[in-house]
Amino acid sequence: MKKSVQTKCFGYPKIGENRELKKALENYWGGKISKEEFIASARRVNLSRLEKQKSAGIDLVSSNDFSLYDFILDLSAMFGVVPERFSGPDDDFDTYFSMARGNDSAVACEMTKWFDTNYHYIVPEINSGFELRKNRPLESHKWARENAGIDTVPCMVGPFTFLKLAKGYREKDFNKLLFELSALYNKALKELEQAGVKTVQTDEPALVLDLTGEEVDALIEAYKILTKDLKELNIHVQTYYESLSAYETIVKELPVDGIGLDFVSNGENLENIRKYGFPNGKKLIAGVVSGRDVWKTDYEETVNLINELTGLTCRKDLIISNSCPLFHLPVSLANEKGRLDDELLRLLAFADERLEELETIKDIVNNEKLLPQNNFEQIRQKFKNPKVFNELSGIDEDNIGRAEKFNVRYQKQQEILNLPLFPTTTIGSYPQTPEVRKTRAARKKGEISKQEYDAFIRTEIKKVIELQEKIGLDVLVHGEFERTDMVEHFAQKLDGFAFTGNGWVQSYGSRCVRPPIIYGDVSRPEKMTVDEIVYAQSLTQKTVKGMLTGPVTILNWSFSRKDIPGKEIAFQIALAIKQEVADLEKAGIKIIQIDEAAFREGMPLKQAKQKHYLDWAVKAFKLTNEDVKPKTQIHTHMCYSEFNEILGSIHAMDADVISIEASRSRGEIIEVFEKINYDQGIGLGVYDIHSPRVPSVREIESVIDGSARAIDRRLFWINPDCGLKTRGYEETVPALENMVLAAGRAREKAMAVNS
Ligand code: GLN
Ligand code: ZN
Repeated sequence: MKKSVQTKCFGYPKIGENRELKKALENYWGGKISKEEFIASARRVNLSRLEKQKSAGIDLVSSNDFSLYDFILDLSAMFGVVPERFSGPDDDFDTYFSMARGNDSAVACEMTKWFDTNYHYIVPEINSGFELRKNRPLESHKWARENAGIDTVPCMVGPFTFLKLAKGYREKDFNKLLFELSALYNKALKELEQAGVKTVQTDEPALVLDLTGEEVDALIEAYKILTKDLKELNIHVQTYYESLSAYETIVKELPVDGIGLDFVSNGENLENIRKYGFPNGKKLIAGVVSGRDVWKTDYEETVNLINELTGLTCRKDLIISNSCPLFHLPVSLANEKGRLDDELLRLLAFADERLEELETIKDIVNNEKLLPQNNFEQIRQKFKNPKVFNELSGIDEDNIGRAEKFNVRYQKQQEILNLPLFPTTTIGSYPQTPEVRKTRAARKKGEISKQEYDAFIRTEIKKVIELQEKIGLDVLVHGEFERTDMVEHFAQKLDGFAFTGNGWVQSYGSRCVRPPIIYGDVSRPEKMTVDEIVYAQSLTQKTVKGMLTGPVTILNWSFSRKDIPGKEIAFQIALAIKQEVADLEKAGIKIIQIDEAAFREGMPLKQAKQKHYLDWAVKAFKLTNEDVKPKTQIHTHMCYSEFNEILGSIHAMDADVISIEASRSRGEIIEVFEKINYDQGIGLGVYDIHSPRVPSVREIESVIDGSARAIDRRLFWINPDCGLKTRGYEETVPALENMVLAAGRAREKAMAVNS
């Protein structure tokens, strides 16, 4: 049977090959270009992405997957989900950016992580009802037809996922709101049908989360409303990041024309098709090239998969696509030639290369072409390090951890450290002034020598040690002036990591990150932080904390390998960090902080898998410091507040002191701590570093009093809620001064109670 596979692409990166959208946004916000100029550059970016997909030969190109800031914010604007505080005389365009970034009179909408990715979306705030203000998918379709000559598949996040990610409504109102919203989707879809659009994609990644029976029922009901009276228009529901939950019911009963499944994240969707089949009347959109990892697709495996799928479902037509939106990948490898190692380059694929892969696979399958040969395995072998392998096999997983119990250790530590009650400290970084950034950039370009640069960093360290002494903090830090980024800094010093020149991916709005690529076994060729920390310690009688990034965070903020499990990579990194911890201890450093800012980010979406992840993540962290002496104090830091469900694991990390962000949802956090009786050292952030506001002594005092209910005062540390690098000294100095005064007040009160 001759096959006729078609290719489809959705969620192609929006920021532009050279971050043109980012630059245009920043110029527009900064008043350097007009609104018209801004829109013109955004359109150029969008046009070029459409044209690229077209010229690659993609059969079904999506539209409406471009956005000026965030695609969830687009939907909020489309359906009139605009909080009252933004209802002013502004036009829609200004309101849109005000919701994202705040304005003089209204704070921005909350931003949070999109599923288990590093993308952040603007959380919809449902206050009153919905209204269809603007049919964006329709506009995008028209625009693409007129400007790129493409009959696109408009896409938008579906009502179920949209509502699941929104806040501001009561759980019991979920169905009612879902049905109301679905009716408006229906209205928009009818307009699309009338305009001659053939297919629309609704993205429903929330269907891979654990779903209750009631939720599945509501979903099906909602799609009955959404598709009501549609005749010609095809609706394709796209799921991704994991396997579809409630597979059997949803594929059979969801009243749509096609269902997209992710076959890259794991084998569960395939397993479900083997078990339950796939309904005849529906199109299967098979996500076969990864939207998330940077490794070339294995053609042999993929062609086998496609053959199995066509066989199992008795069909010759199949749509193949990316497994999830491509915007998690950098745009193109073209700019990396000469920058990345040639052999490594041969193993990689970014968004543009995914388009080529889809076309190649289509060609192989439809025209019965031979599989191209490659030597990938040979190259991969070269990136392995037998020494790392041996060390890894020596780990006794069931016995990772420190020899003495927390209570015993902590007492020894506090004696040696000679700290007052309520010790004060900071999270590590101090303001990165324009001068610091300029000097780092100059070093990178080779404009200044290593000696000059090191001397500059030392001067900065000296200044910040003096400053902290003057402010009166108890435990000092070196300020992290030598680091651009807490992961990149370590990745650059470790073997097994590579760095792109232009591998940017959107984190939110105009913010992009350039994750390192873990391509080989990780090891530490030499000391990474000891010089700076020892220098800082030499300048003061007070204790200086060593400052490292933890293995789980380094892993979660990098593109990682696919040929070995994440756990193994985390353990490799942990062994490297462990060596650094040992060297710091040997050099006389008494407190070492190992940041795990992204500890929670790698958590699988389905509950059944979370335990396994948390189990190895905790072990990886413990591995880094299991051999330190009882008197050496280990700190860690996490910067988010939704950790209620992982509190057990945080405790199991067995850090002597943990500092966490708590300023945004304080009440909730204190409640949790009251309940579980957390019995190790803890510093709940006493003020929010995300804004330039200076908190008063009073304010900080009341925060401390509030948390003192829940936490034993002998374990109570006082610190801001995250690093200070994005702040200026103008606000940082008075804020820290107030924090120290508030700590003093807390001590006085504690003494008064005692006497
Ligand atoms: N030590 C880091 C800093 O202070 C921690 C950053 C973070 O938590 N994201 O900047
Ligand atoms: Zn933080």
